[in-house]
Amino acid sequence: MVDQTCGEDRAMNRNQSSMVEATNPMDPGGKINLKGLWIEDYEKLLGELGEKRYKARQLASWIYDKGITDFAQMTELSKDLRKKLNQIAVIDSIKLVKRQISQKDISEKFLFELSDGEKIETVLIWEGKRVTVCLSTQVGCQLGCTFCATGKMGFKRNLTAGEIIDQIITLGEHGITHVVLMGMGEPLLNYDHTLKALKIMNNELGLSFAAKKITLSTAGIPPMIEKLAEEKLKIKLAISLNVATDEKRNKLMPINKKYPLKELLDAVKYFVKQTKRGITFEYVLIEDVNDSEKDAQELSKLIRGIRCKINLIPYNPVPDLPYQRPSQETVLAFRDYLYPRCPAVTLRWSKGEDILAACGQLRTLS
Ligand code: SAH
Ligand code: SF4
Repeated sequence: MVDQTCGEDRAMNRNQSSMVEATNPMDPGGKINLKGLWIEDYEKLLGELGEKRYKARQLASWIYDKGITDFAQMTELSKDLRKKLNQIAVIDSIKLVKRQISQKDISEKFLFELSDGEKIETVLIWEGKRVTVCLSTQVGCQLGCTFCATGKMGFKRNLTAGEIIDQIITLGEHGITHVVLMGMGEPLLNYDHTLKALKIMNNELGLSFAAKKITLSTAGIPPMIEKLAEEKLKIKLAISLNVATDEKRNKLMPINKKYPLKELLDAVKYFVKQTKRGITFEYVLIEDVNDSEKDAQELSKLIRGIRCKINLIPYNPVPDLPYQRPSQETVLAFRDYLYPRCPAVTLRWSKGEDILAACGQLRTLS
């Protein structure tokens, strides 16, 4: 969008950017990007423009529910307000630059370019009537799990709330029914933007996804899990456990050195108690690393007494990494050991392996 403002308006722009704290890095010409802001931000902005704060809800509905990006089309708002908004703000989107369809199963990977040229990947997975979008929350990841492609690419920056939800809005035509935050990045280390994105997804003025259709996956950041437990959101939580002893987890997931299993499980128990909802433990099965009967035994012991489900994910190989997927026989033996010792066990063969769109295979090269 072209910045058409005169000198006086530019001065106004600078003042506006200080009004709304959650400014985005994608403001061409210093304008505020309204996508990714939410009702409380709009109220503040409208208040400072001398407008009635109740219009914040209308603005939210135009932007998210109706998907309008041109202020001229927001006919419910006065002409005067539309003009003011046009002078100081934009409704900007991330840009789709490439899509890759899996030949093996029904999944598709999308490459998006952000306003500063960074790139992220998003995956869509079709399973019967269910269409799941797998969202990224950061460009890269700072946690460096040794088996994960995203971990290998290092960390560039957090995504804004707008960049997180724009992955859904841009792919809206595909009839998305479920959202998982399991793409690139650690959502709980980008807490504020992720939370705002979740609020937008879960509100009827926003994208109207029921909370039970949204799952956040984390490598395990105990203070943030506890914080999430206090929020009024009823989304599902998944913990990437992956191995059941500190000794092994320290090697695979360096974050475990900072937050060992006891601390992680205490936070999980707090979450379950506080929210009265069970959680999912994800366990990526890697050949000769965490796939033995002893590993299964340790896992069932570790999670005893916690209201949970275990989701087993056979490893998706990543180029240049030394790990392999166990044989089908080993995977099934692991599952059969766990169930019925653990309350619920599911086995998920990832989709999109051939286009490197499966769990943990996302990596953008810039
Ligand atoms: N950072 C968050 C969310 C993104 S990773 C987290 O770690 O939970 C999403 C999931 O992919 C995690 O459960 C992770 O353990 C898994 N994963 C990572 N690399 C994988 C791979 N190569 N094959 C299968 N799953 C993988
Ligand atoms: Fe980051 Fe999750 Fe990959 Fe670990 S598994 S490096 S936390 S994205």
